[in-house]
This record gives sequence, structure tokens and C-alpha cells, in this order.
Amino acid sequence: MLHIGCHLSAAKGYYHMGQEALKVGADTLQYFTRNPRGASAKKVDPEDIKKFVDLMEEHHFAKIVAHAPYTLNACSKDEHLRALAKRMMAEDLETLDYLPGNYYNFHPGSHVGQGIEAGIGYICEALNEVLRADQKTTVLLETMAGKGSEVGSRFEELRSIIDGVEKSDKLGVCLDTCHVSDAGYDIIHDLDGVLNEFDRVIGLDRLKAVHLNDSMNVTGAHKDRHAKIGEGEIGVEAITRIINHPALRDLPFNLETPNDLEGYAAEIKLLRGLYEA
Ligand code: FE
Ligand code: FE
Ligand code: ZN
Repeated sequence: MLHIGCHLSAAKGYYHMGQEALKVGADTLQYFTRNPRGASAKKVDPEDIKKFVDLMEEHHFAKIVAHAPYTLNACSKDEHLRALAKRMMAEDLETLDYLPGNYYNFHPGSHVGQGIEAGIGYICEALNEVLRADQKTTVLLETMAGKGSEVGSRFEELRSIIDGVEKSDKLGVCLDTCHVSDAGYDIIHDLDGVLNEFDRVIGLDRLKAVHLNDSMNVTGAHKDRHAKIGEGEIGVEAITRIINHPALRDLPFNLETPNDLEGYAAEIKLLRGLYEA
């Protein structure tokens, strides 16, 4: 069975978000742990989370993905911003203790001028500070498009991060189809080749989730503009191969396409129809 969901909001509570997921035909979801552009986190209501966890169990949800805010930059040149990133990550991971066994996805960051090696060093430093031996959440590094000075658009960079983290058993990778294509990996014509490369450099056992997006731009464009499924350069045929690929087909897929709830429901229905039983 295809595990698919979409990006939803937790602003009205977790249980409300779970009900929205059911409404669009999802059996997983992704949400921002806090305002994506701001820093403040909503106070958690344990009762609400409990109801949400029960709902997920009842409806056999696959693992869900909590996404860190875009503003979080663990490899900023500014020490104050690095400290803020660590504080947000530590807090988010504490909140996620209420939702044990799920994923926390973050963008490795942008090194803005200091160079990729210094950036990777800071990311490792942050993870070495915030990862706890007793946490039940797996932290996912998202594959990036390579826009500006983004870290994580090459599999080798993600490997270097994993290699620099002591509790690397807490780390995985989330593959964003728009981002990898924009980064120059040809998932349209050579999905096998790209996944072999992923396996060689990172190891497919680290791949835990997929962001399923079409891209407004061609392979290698380094842009990061998501398109609706079938309305971008990746196209429905390649996306059908992606959701059915033996290395991917059992992972949770989340749409981050420009859609309202109705649009998400339609895409989820389309994709369920393209999945080979
Ligand atoms: Fe993301
Ligand atoms: Fe993404
Ligand atoms: Zn993106």
C-alpha cells in the first residue's frame, strides 16, 4: 500500500490536523513544528497529541514527518543564529517525545560564504549537541536543490554530516524529488543510477522518507520551485516510477506541491491509482 500524505498545518491542533489528513485520503503527513518563517513554537497540549496518536493508530498511519522551520540555519556564520537553531532543534525534539518513533526533518542550512566545510562542521556540532541517546525520533537531513550556498545538494555532503555526528544512529535522509532533480541528479531518465549512487555514498538504509514534488525547472537548475504532480519537468511517468521503485515504494511520501486541501486530495487519489499493488 502506498503511504502518502501532504504538508498540513498544526496551527489548529494535532487532532484537527489528523482529521484533515483523513479528509484528503492521506495515511501520513508532514507539518511545521512552528511558524515556518518565525521561531515561536505553539505550546503543546498533551491531550490533543494523545488524541492524534490514537487517530493515527486507528487509521494505520505510516510514520509522520515534523519539519523544522526554514529559518533554522545550523551553519550560519552568526553564532547567535547557530545557538537559536540548536535551541529550536532541542525544543522540537522534546515536543516530539510525545510522538515517539516519527521523523524530524530539517534543511542542513546555508553556509553563506564561509565555505561548505565550515558549514558542515557547524551542522555536525549542532547535531552533536542536540541529539539525545534516549530520543525516539529519527532526525532526517533533507536533500537540497543547491540554491545559493545551501548545504546538502550533493550526497557526499550528507555523508560528511553523518560521518561527523556521534549519535549517527539517530540520523536518516529525506529525499525531495524536486530538490534532487534541481541538484542535478537525473531521476527522470536514470532513477536506478541515482538510487545506486545514493546507496554507494550514503546507504539506502538511511533513506527514511520522500518529499514527492514535481519541479518547475529542469534537472540541474538549482532553483527549488515545486510544481504540482505532472505539471512540472519531472512529469507523471517519472513520478510513477518513483512511487513504485522497490527501494522507495514502502517509504512515507509527502506532497509539498502548491495545493489547497482539495488539490492535495486529487493528487493523493491520482497517485494511489498509479501505485502497483
Ligand atoms: Fe523542506
Ligand atoms: Fe522538501
Ligand atoms: Zn523545496
